[in-house]
Amino acid sequence: MSFSQLGLSDALLRAVQERGYSEPTPIQQQAIPIVLSGQDLLAGAQTGTGKTAGFTLPILHLLSSQPQSQVQPSRSDQPKRVIRQSIRALILTPTRELAAQVEESVQTYGKYVKLSSMTLFGGVAIQPQIRRLRGGVDILVATPGRLLDHVQQGTVDLSQIEILVLDEADRMLDMGFIRDIRRIIALLPPYRQNLLFSATFSEQVKTLASGLLYEPQMIEVARQNATADTVAQKVYLVDRERKRHLLAHLIQTENWYQVLVFTRTKHGADRLVKQLAESRIPALAIHGNKSQAARTRALAKFKDGSLQVLVATDIAARGIDIIELAQVVNFDLPNVPEDYVHRIGRTGRAGSAGEAISLVCVDEYKLLSDIEKLIKQKPPRETVAGFEVDPQIKAEPIQMGRGGQQGRGQRARPSGQKPDRSRAERSRPTQSGQSKPARTAQSAEGEHSAPRRAARRP
Ligand code: AMP
Repeated sequence: MSFSQLGLSDALLRAVQERGYSEPTPIQQQAIPIVLSGQDLLAGAQTGTGKTAGFTLPILHLLSSQPQSQVQPSRSDQPKRVIRQSIRALILTPTRELAAQVEESVQTYGKYVKLSSMTLFGGVAIQPQIRRLRGGVDILVATPGRLLDHVQQGTVDLSQIEILVLDEADRMLDMGFIRDIRRIIALLPPYRQNLLFSATFSEQVKTLASGLLYEPQMIEVARQNATADTVAQKVYLVDRERKRHLLAHLIQTENWYQVLVFTRTKHGADRLVKQLAESRIPALAIHGNKSQAARTRALAKFKDGSLQVLVATDIAARGIDIIELAQVVNFDLPNVPEDYVHRIGRTGRAGSAGEAISLVCVDEYKLLSDIEKLIKQKPPRETVAGFEVDPQIKAEPIQMGRGGQQGRGQRARPSGQKPDRSRAERSRPTQSGQSKPARTAQSAEGEHSAPRRAARRP
């Protein structure tokens, strides 16, 4: 199948072609026609599948082919008043990095359409964001916390949102954002299109989806918790104190030049950077204690190839998207088995081959077996000559760093959330054809334009 069969406009096809994609990925083949048809979507897709283009392309198509009215309806005896353009699509992401990544995609694919976009996340000054919002934005990519800061200050207007995307919904819920998400949803107009993307489907994700989505189309491109086939996984058994030496050895002997290394804690990430420096291996860390500027700088250097090793904690690494990232190393195994899937999703993206290596010490055998159960695979276990395991060393409890699961629950709030508005409350004008899958953009637009416009009627 080619992109031109999906019903996207020429302007978008041109941008896709320039990006160098020859054909749509499976999630794009399935998601694009559904989004174009105006239906709600529940998509099971992990990162690396091309899901971002799966929703940004049709959103750009819909918004550019149905320009927002610039004229506010007014009493017939008054002159019509031109109003400021308001936000039409809201994409919520769990992390700043993912927000930046998604907005970059919006820019890339939206190169030839007249739509504006911006990111809204914390860790950077709020004033420039306020100024930018005042200028009018069509597509807003935001993390929930900073978006609510703007809501509180009255600097963002969500009342005209036509399309809502929850990207990596499972991760947002893991991070304790459920209450924030519900507060945001309550501010949106009732008639809108909702898209929910999640790599996994916990009960919490299902509950959120059932309250949010209206007769959704469902698609799933990879088995739940499946790891991408293009990633070769390997486990190196090694002693706790020798991990760093083994990592330096592998980087040097295997000539890895762009390695993403995961540690369990922020402190562990900083310590590893220093230890690698002792072996003359240039590395930088990104985690929640680093300023946004430092994180952005490190990521930029890593992406342009001037930084050999990027050490990251799970949360900070979300959204890192580098084409053909060949090596991902789990310096520590994650405590939550699903994080393993997310981590190794950094490599072998959209068809390119990658290698995910886990350095596993005696303390982590239980974590390893939990991961193997989840992914229903047993990556080969090996030892590297000179780094054989000392059977005398006994397992020790795993240090989690201050605050338990670091990075998690930063914005966690007390439970007792208000339930989401019922479907009946949100029900929109008849939207037939749920059972019809792919339709052409033209017919889809025709069908959907009524509810969309209805949302803007006073
Ligand atoms: P995502 O899952 O959205 O994070 O995308 C993963 C990677 O796949 C990104 O580097 C995209 O640029 C790339 N990608 C997206 N769509 C395609 C495509 N149709 N062909 C090749 N690569 C793609």
